[in-house]
Amino acid sequence: MTWTPETLIRPEILGQSAYPVPASGGLVKLDAMENPYEWPESLRRPWSERLAGVAVNRYPDPRAEDLVAALRRVMGIPEGAQVMLGNGSDELIQILLMALAGPGRVVMAPEPAFVMYRTVARWLGMEYVGVPLREDFALDLPALQRALETHRPAVLFLAYPNNPSGNLWPRDAMEALIETAPGLVVVDEAYSPFAADSFLPAAGSHPRLLVMRTVSKLGLAGLRLGYLCGPAPWLGQLDKLRLPYNVNTLTQAAARFALEHHDVLEAQAAAIRRDRETLYRALQGLEGIEPFPSEANFILFRTPPGRARAVFEGIRARGVLIKDLSGQGGSLTDCLRVTVGTPEENARFLDALIGALAGGG
Ligand code: PMP
Repeated sequence: MTWTPETLIRPEILGQSAYPVPASGGLVKLDAMENPYEWPESLRRPWSERLAGVAVNRYPDPRAEDLVAALRRVMGIPEGAQVMLGNGSDELIQILLMALAGPGRVVMAPEPAFVMYRTVARWLGMEYVGVPLREDFALDLPALQRALETHRPAVLFLAYPNNPSGNLWPRDAMEALIETAPGLVVVDEAYSPFAADSFLPAAGSHPRLLVMRTVSKLGLAGLRLGYLCGPAPWLGQLDKLRLPYNVNTLTQAAARFALEHHDVLEAQAAAIRRDRETLYRALQGLEGIEPFPSEANFILFRTPPGRARAVFEGIRARGVLIKDLSGQGGSLTDCLRVTVGTPEENARFLDALIGALAGGG
C-alpha cells in the first residue's frame, strides 16, 4: 500500500488551512499593516546602483555581519545582546518553537494575539494556551499569572504593541510577567516604529527575555527581515536551527542601504503616527463605531452588533480592503481592523465606511 496525503501528512497539518492572503488587486490595500509609502525618487537610483553591484553568484554572508552591525547601531541594540536574523520575524517564531517543541510543551500568549504563535505551535504539535484579554483588550495580569503557574509554558509571547488590538500593556505588568514566567518571554515589537515604549534596551540583561523585531512595518515588508535579540546562551542554541543562508544577499544589501537612510523611514513612521491620531478621531466621531486606542500603525474598531461582516464587504465593494476579525469571536466579535495609510487612502476608507454603514452594509 502506498501513502496518500491524507494518510502520510501529520494530522495536525491536515487539520489546518494555509495562511490566507486575500486578493487585493485594484483595491486600496489597508489590510496588512504595511507602510503605504515607497522610497522617495531621490533614493531609488542610488539604491538600484547599490543592488547592481551585488554579486549573486555566491551564497550570502551566513552571519550577515555588516547588516547586524548596522542594525545594532541604528536600532540601539545593547552590546550585551546577541542578534539572530530571520526571513521575517515569522521565521524567527518558527525557529524558536522548533527549538522548544516536544510532548507537553506549551506556548502561551494573551488572546487575541498574532495568529502565527498559535499556527506554528500547532504545526509542531505543541499546545497553545491563549489567555483572554479583558473586553476592552486590557491585559488580565492575575489571569496570566495563574495561567503561568498552571501551564508553565516554554514560551510566553507578549506583542508590544499587541496585534490585533494595537495597545501597549502596562510596563510594570510586563516586568512582572518577565520576572515570573518560568520559560522564555518573547517581547514581539513588530510595531515599535509607532510605539512610545520598548524593551530593546533590556535585551541581553534578563536571562529569559528575548526581544523580537522586524523591518516590515517600517517600510521594508518586501525584504523579509526580522531580528531576535537576547542572551548569547539562548541565541547560540537557536542559531543551530537557522538555515545557513536564510537572509538572502539582496535583502542584506537593501536593508543596509535602507538603514543608512533610516531618517527617511523614521519620517514616514512619524507621518503614520500623526495620521493614526486623525483617523482615530474621525472613527470616534462616527455613530455606532468604537475605535480602540492604538500605538501601532493600525486601528481596531467595533461596528454595530452583528454588522461587521456586512460593513467589511460594503467597504470592499467601495474599493478598500481592510481586515475582518469578527469571525474569531470572543472580544473580537463585531471588530474590524484598518491599517493607517496615506491621508488620501484614509479618506477613501472613511468614505467607504460611512457609505457601508449608511447603505445597510
Ligand atoms: N509579530 C507581529 C505582532 C505581527 O503582527 C507580525 C506581522 N503581521 C509579525 C510579527 C511578522 O512580521 P514579519 O514576518 O513580516 O517580520
